[in-house]
Amino acid sequence: MKTILTGIRANSVLTLGNYLGALLPIVRLSNKYSREGDNINIFVPDLHSIISEVEGDLAENTIRTLKYYLAAGLIINENVHIYRQSRVPAHAELCWILNCTATMGEMSRMTQYKEKSEGKASCNVGIFDYPALMAADILLYSANYVPLGEDQFQHIELTRNLAERFNHKYGEIFVIPEDTKAQVEFMGVSKPIRVRDLVNPEKKMSKSNLAENSKIMLDDTPEKAAKKIMSATTDSLGAVDFDFETRPGISNLLYIEALVNDTPLETVVEKWRGESKYGELKKQVAASVSGLLSDFQARLERISDAEVLDLLEKGEKYANEVANKKLHEAQKALHLR
Ligand code: ATP
Ligand code: MG
Repeated sequence: MKTILTGIRANSVLTLGNYLGALLPIVRLSNKYSREGDNINIFVPDLHSIISEVEGDLAENTIRTLKYYLAAGLIINENVHIYRQSRVPAHAELCWILNCTATMGEMSRMTQYKEKSEGKASCNVGIFDYPALMAADILLYSANYVPLGEDQFQHIELTRNLAERFNHKYGEIFVIPEDTKAQVEFMGVSKPIRVRDLVNPEKKMSKSNLAENSKIMLDDTPEKAAKKIMSATTDSLGAVDFDFETRPGISNLLYIEALVNDTPLETVVEKWRGESKYGELKKQVAASVSGLLSDFQARLERISDAEVLDLLEKGEKYANEVANKKLHEAQKALHLR
């Protein structure tokens, strides 16, 4: 029996990138593995949220995020556990222990930290330290697989290093999560999904990017989303082809079209290669994306807060039991108990 763990921050409404790269893959994995008897932990890392400005009400955002999973087709059974990080105090406690295991050097090398702190006059310690909290999130539940986007892979490697270091010093307490290669294989995609920014396609689409047209939000009206696709940055080469290196804009559109329709990328590229009217491709992608949004939004409407709160109550009871057991083992190993 495996444990599969995933979390998604509930800072704001999610983007199409979050949907295609995180939500949909975990929903598919969860549905597959929970039926086979594996444990699926889906948690809202609300303690991670407060490292940056939270848009709106965090508690409400949390409920909305969980509704997203349900609207994306998540099947609930006895193997699926849904919880809020802040309701399981063991996360913060193990984080402290891991802080005393990690070095300043390795934490300073984290790309996410470097990106998020770059050029800022001051940066909160949470931005620096959240990979240690993330390691706690994973190790408390002996998670084997943590399906995440490629921007988080470095943190999985850090988690493995911290766990190995702790075990080496204090005994075999933590289960080491699989390495990133195995994680990618497990997710069943040869390359991690990475939807690009619509305005600046050299970058990935990010919900924290303030430029409205750079991202499709899951609560955009289908019409608004279609407009954003129509105004996406392309190039002036005049014939559609796929190459993320040299032609990121047009490639991103092909990529989105393939993902939204669950069609192999090669099939989409074959269909559009050589097309000189980029507008035609844009119209097709705009129709696919707005269709996806209207279906998703209709399903979302039908899910109640009460349904989500009931799942959280059950999930948090389970999570506290499992996490406290592991925390106590670590505390005993350290002679704190
Ligand atoms: P932020 O700008 O606040 O970092 P984000 O859009 O990058 O927001 P995260 O909360 O960092 O979102 O990540 C949530 C999940 O979505 C992660 O699993 C991440 O890998 C995935 N993800 C984020 N952006 C994309 C993207 N553009 N394409 C595919 N997956 C993505
Ligand atoms: Mg991010």
